[in-house]
Amino acid sequence: MFNKILIANRGEIALRIHRAAKEMGISTVAIHSTADATAMHVRLADESVCIGPPASAQSYLNQPAILTACEITGAEAVHPGYGFLSENAGFAQIVEEHGLAFIGPTPADIRTMGDKIAAKETMRRLGVPCVPGSEGALDTIDEALAAARDIGYPVLVKAAAGGGGRGMKLAPAEADLAHAFSQARAESKAAFGDDTVYLEKYLALPRHIEVQVIADTHGNACHLGERDCSLQRRHQKVLEECPSPVIDDETRARIGGICAGAIRDMGYRGVGTIEFLYQDGEFHFIEMNTRLQVEHPVTEMVYGVDLVREQIRIAAGEKLSFSQSDLKPRGHAIECRINAERIPSFAPCPGLVKGFHAPGGLGVRMDSALYAGYSVPPYYDSLIGKLIVSADNRPDCLARLKRALDELVVDGIDTTAPLFHALLENPDIRSGDYNIHWLENWLARELG
Ligand code: ADP
Repeated sequence: MFNKILIANRGEIALRIHRAAKEMGISTVAIHSTADATAMHVRLADESVCIGPPASAQSYLNQPAILTACEITGAEAVHPGYGFLSENAGFAQIVEEHGLAFIGPTPADIRTMGDKIAAKETMRRLGVPCVPGSEGALDTIDEALAAARDIGYPVLVKAAAGGGGRGMKLAPAEADLAHAFSQARAESKAAFGDDTVYLEKYLALPRHIEVQVIADTHGNACHLGERDCSLQRRHQKVLEECPSPVIDDETRARIGGICAGAIRDMGYRGVGTIEFLYQDGEFHFIEMNTRLQVEHPVTEMVYGVDLVREQIRIAAGEKLSFSQSDLKPRGHAIECRINAERIPSFAPCPGLVKGFHAPGGLGVRMDSALYAGYSVPPYYDSLIGKLIVSADNRPDCLARLKRALDELVVDGIDTTAPLFHALLENPDIRSGDYNIHWLENWLARELG
């Protein structure tokens, strides 16, 4: 096992990784920008290295600086967290070329899954059900028109390099396709430096359901059920739950088995998330994330597994500490993403946190790097904490979440916490009857 790891991230996820490492007796190295010198992840880590100015491109994405930090501290492995360099195959490769362990999949698997066309081809080959769509990339509008006629409208033009909902354009009918095609290409070129696009059948009212998978380097692969992340705003997840209110045990075992089998056949290493749109009882693969997800705690609460600990063990060449038959879901868990944003505009609201009180009690977990006196910097993602609650069943979980939200205090800055108070009162949320468009429709009605 490693003696020391470097955590190439910030905020709550850097803390999350630090916690797992310390419990395993591993020393931690934090990296930080000049804007984060007083951040909690820096204060708690055993060592820290300043790697650059506030802008991410010069700090948290600064690969030479991060490698130098490994060298001067003697860190043996790098955990990338989520975002930043976590799905950068080149970074994973450079880390390994320096004789360090990358706590994540192989560079080759990151590369394949980072290209949505290659990812879909791989998954289809491995027996994972996919959204109907074009066979590969479309170079011209004529090719797109022909493919769309086969698929049937409405269709979605999607960027092969896409992420965060960018490079995705809807064409409700043939007359809209030329515009959607050129828009998606331009947006993808600007965001990712790549204008490769493909077509997918647009599913009108799906749920977003994703399967957590994990594999070691000894040929063992398991699934840890699903998460329902259908509550989204602008393709960003807002609230996630495990299990999904609409998936029964038999369906879970079937789709989970397909996913675990697929990553076993791929020879995949580490944790991953296979994302589906689920409609009319059918799963349609959209993409695979080759990293720890923001919403991983709901799975941990229900399955009683520390996913970060497993990631570190896998990177050190150890076997999974469980097999599929050991994994028994228990109860229900829900996560709320608390952002430093002002409702109703959702404008970022960085600044000084004058007071902070984290909720507690049975079944309540607050993953946050906030503290009173901390100033949320304006340079990074606005996520300031995740409130995760678990209970024996979904109704009890909702009641506990309401109670926990009532205890949360963040003074000095606006947060999205009031949104969850309102959502919890809604009959559709209470019954679990929602899809990926529900939240946007509700926001339009409630907030105007
Ligand atoms: P990104 O990597 O940009 O987040 P995804 O492929 O993961 O893109 O899709 C993000 C979201 O866009 C999905 O959760 C869903 O809300 C919507 N979406 C993607 N593909 C489709 C589709 N074929 N039909 C309907 N909605 C889709």
